[in-house]
Amino acid sequence: MSGSRRRIGYSYLLEQFADIDPYLEDIRALVKTGDFTLGKPLGEFEEKFARLLDLPYAIGVGTGTDALMLSLKILGVGPGDEVITTPNTFVATVGAIAMAGARPVFVDNNEEYTIDVTKIEETVTPRTKAIMPVHLTGCPADMPRIMEIAHRHNLLVVEDAAQAILAAIDGKSVGSWGAAAGFSLHPLKNLNIWGDGGVIVTRSAELADNLRLFRNHGMATRDEIDFWSHNCRLDTLQAVIANRLLEQVHAITDRRIANARLYDEAFADLAEFINVPPRRSNFKQVYHTYVLRVRNRDRLYQFLLSKGVEAKIHYPIPLHLQKAAGYLGYKKGDFPQCEADCHTIITLPVHQHLQSSQIEFVIDCIRNFYH
Ligand SMILES: *Cc1c(COP(=O)(O)O)cnc(C)c1O
Repeated sequence: MSGSRRRIGYSYLLEQFADIDPYLEDIRALVKTGDFTLGKPLGEFEEKFARLLDLPYAIGVGTGTDALMLSLKILGVGPGDEVITTPNTFVATVGAIAMAGARPVFVDNNEEYTIDVTKIEETVTPRTKAIMPVHLTGCPADMPRIMEIAHRHNLLVVEDAAQAILAAIDGKSVGSWGAAAGFSLHPLKNLNIWGDGGVIVTRSAELADNLRLFRNHGMATRDEIDFWSHNCRLDTLQAVIANRLLEQVHAITDRRIANARLYDEAFADLAEFINVPPRRSNFKQVYHTYVLRVRNRDRLYQFLLSKGVEAKIHYPIPLHLQKAAGYLGYKKGDFPQCEADCHTIITLPVHQHLQSSQIEFVIDCIRNFYH
């Protein structure tokens, strides 16, 4: 085992922003313009973000959660409607559905931690309006199959791409499959800023125009209001930060993919103890998180923490068993894969600031634990 006793942290923000001067220079330039709301850097960010995904329109909003909620609302999803998603996701997916006024309907996840497409159709009812697949961990949900099901039942698709910037299937980016998609710029997402932010992408010019009003009081001009709405803009100050990080997002993603590959290769020998999820050759996964199913999870988790490796559990309690979901009437046993995963999953640090010696250290710890 390498001698390093250095802490291997889950967060990388201190390293990422060790050299803040270039960012502060950009902020200084913005402050001199006073262009703080819907300012020029926001427009530049939106244009570059859309181009990155090969889409015509991107709209900056306050958070990733708002991106999902506003997408649903602008598409007409609301009270009386059902939206299909999975219980194995960050709470915001389901919160966004509920805050749009619709009823979340759950479908279990598959071995890749994304929605099990073979179980979607049995949950479709006359009230189903949309499917919200989640590209959890940065692994794309099976979008070709989901779009096929959506067409057959005339459903909208809004992708929760919060964890999956630059993930793709057959070269087609996540976020470009459905009617709209939401991304998050939260500090611990792969494309991050200095606080909260989100982005909605769409191919529809009409939707994009409406969303620009929707996030800004429904204001058509300074004095004319087309409809009552939210104030939910991405701060121009944050767009300034985002513009700098957009230049780095390919390098960040490539490093995460390379780190994940080192883990995958090392764990191939430990198949008795560790289940690496499937890696489909036509899927580009971007590893917002690196999640394995392991034997003796709780003990491994404690062991890693004792070695200074900041492992995590994403997520320990499935959403259908949360108090918040009580009114939906689900019970233990309804989603066996998701419930079993909660006891076996572990998240290892995979971020772009890890040295390969640190990855080796994590691998050595895990080998030692099982041998
Ligand atoms: C982070 C996240 C969100 C919400 O993003 P915020 O910007 O934190 O509001 C939504 N869905 C998933 C799966 C996420 O990981």
